[in-house]
Amino acid sequence: MTERTEVRSILTRSSGYLRSVCSHSLQPYRGCSYGNSLCGVACYVQHNRWLTRGEAWGSFLEARDNAAAVYLEQVTRERKWARERRDGFVIFMSSSTDPFVPQEAALGITASVLRAMQSEPPDTLIVQTHSPRVLGALDELLALARCCELRVHLSIETDRERLPGLPAPASSVASRLDAAAALRNAGLRTVITVSPMLPLHDATRFLTRCSEVADAIVFDHFIGGDGSPGGERTLRTALPAAMEALEPGSSTLAWRNAIVAQARALLPGRVGVGQDGFAGRMLPG
Ligand code: SF4
Repeated sequence: MTERTEVRSILTRSSGYLRSVCSHSLQPYRGCSYGNSLCGVACYVQHNRWLTRGEAWGSFLEARDNAAAVYLEQVTRERKWARERRDGFVIFMSSSTDPFVPQEAALGITASVLRAMQSEPPDTLIVQTHSPRVLGALDELLALARCCELRVHLSIETDRERLPGLPAPASSVASRLDAAAALRNAGLRTVITVSPMLPLHDATRFLTRCSEVADAIVFDHFIGGDGSPGGERTLRTALPAAMEALEPGSSTLAWRNAIVAQARALLPGRVGVGQDGFAGRMLPG
């Protein structure tokens, strides 16, 4: 069930892993409807008790009805702070929910924030989603791309539609690749984030397809990016064993590095890794 709420703050100053990526994160929702799907298995947010308030990850969603109004209240002060204290006013939407949960189609919270940003834009907006439902906000994104630097990150963890022993993804790989193509064809800077990075069936085919439908690709392996030293949190989940059963070695950084090297050969200058990649710093070819 979706609860409706009003918040006092919507722009969160970044810290930890996100600090080198953005000045602020913005969550239109608390919780995530995709929590019981494939990406939810390793989703680090489920370990944040302040955010889950003891509820099972994927079982709750709270819509922040006044997100757009609060953004407009906070933007002047936070933009000034970010330009003085950070490398510009860079918003990551979102780090602890998906801005395009299924409920967004009816509630329009994310869309209302995107419209508010058109009058008071950040310097850079990174829209991060696991869902092709992002296409529902295409008009708002195109309008915003005329006011600020905008990147849409579409997460595709693997080229496999199912991984034995793990839940299904919330949407098919094919639908997300098609969504990336549609975003890019519309003129938006589009990045495929392989996050969390899972075993690939045919790496060459997948990377070639990514090179056709996206401007760049970013790899985020749990060992380097789950917010705990050496991926400790994810090592306690079902994910590493399922990865190793499919492809021995795939739960190691050596495996990630081999795929990254392959991607660099196919997409020179368009490959990022971890925090640097999310921040838009791509590796040279
Ligand atoms: S879409 Fe993002 S926030 Fe939601 S469960 Fe998946 S990884 Fe977590």
